[in-house]
Parts: sequence; C-alpha cells; structure tokens
Amino acid sequence: MKTYRKELYFNTSVRRQFVNITPQVAECLAESGIKEGLCLVNAMHITASVFINDNEMGLHQDFETWLEKLAPEQPYSQYHHNGTENNGDAHLKRTIMGREVVVAVTGGVLDFGPWEQIFYGEFDGKRKKRVLVKIIGE
Ligand code: ZN
Repeated sequence: MKTYRKELYFNTSVRRQFVNITPQVAECLAESGIKEGLCLVNAMHITASVFINDNEMGLHQDFETWLEKLAPEQPYSQYHHNGTENNGDAHLKRTIMGREVVVAVTGGVLDFGPWEQIFYGEFDGKRKKRVLVKIIGE
C-alpha cells in the first residue's frame, strides 16, 4: 500500500471565507500516483472546516447567513470562551460545518457525486492555517 501526505496552507484576508480547494486536492492525488484508495482532507485548526458541497455563490451566502444566526460573531461577550481571544463563534461554526471529508479514489480520480466540490471553511482567518491531505491506496 502507498501513502501520501501533504499540508496545504491558507491565509484568508477576511475573518470568514469559503475556498474551493478541489483543484489542490486533485493535484495532490495526481502527485501521489495512487489509483485506488481513500483521500482524507482535514482542517488542522479548531476554527476552520473542510466540507463538501456545491460551488454556488448563493449557497455560500446562505451558509454565512445561517451560521451567523446559529452562532453570531458579536457581541463577543456572549461566549464564555471569549476573553483573551474573540473566536467563540468560530469554534461553534467549525463544529457544525465539520472537520474533514473522505473521498473515494477510483481510477486515479476523486470519485465525486454530482456537483460535489471540496471547500475550506475559514471562520477565524487573517492568519496562516493548515489543511492536511492524506491519501492511502495502491
Ligand atoms: Zn478559541
């Protein structure tokens, strides 16, 4: 069995952003040379997510609105976690949107369903953060 590991780096210019990372993950898969197996992609930070959904701007705005209703960023004083930092909302948003995705690798490509794309969800950005790509198979 072959294994492949790579870290991708992101540094968003705004606090919250969704980034389509499908091309970078596909590049990792090509680099790995693995044709049949599994591809794990996970955020390495507890205020960021990796998730799969549609690459459609309206939906991304809906996610932002929905997440702000569930866990509004402000007032910062509403979260017990806040004090030395103000990212209580980002931890909650990350939990809802998930830590990782696993995609099947078939015939050397990511075996997606219709319209599926992989996104990095940043909820406390403006700093360098990592995503892990681990691929196993043959
Ligand atoms: Zn925190």
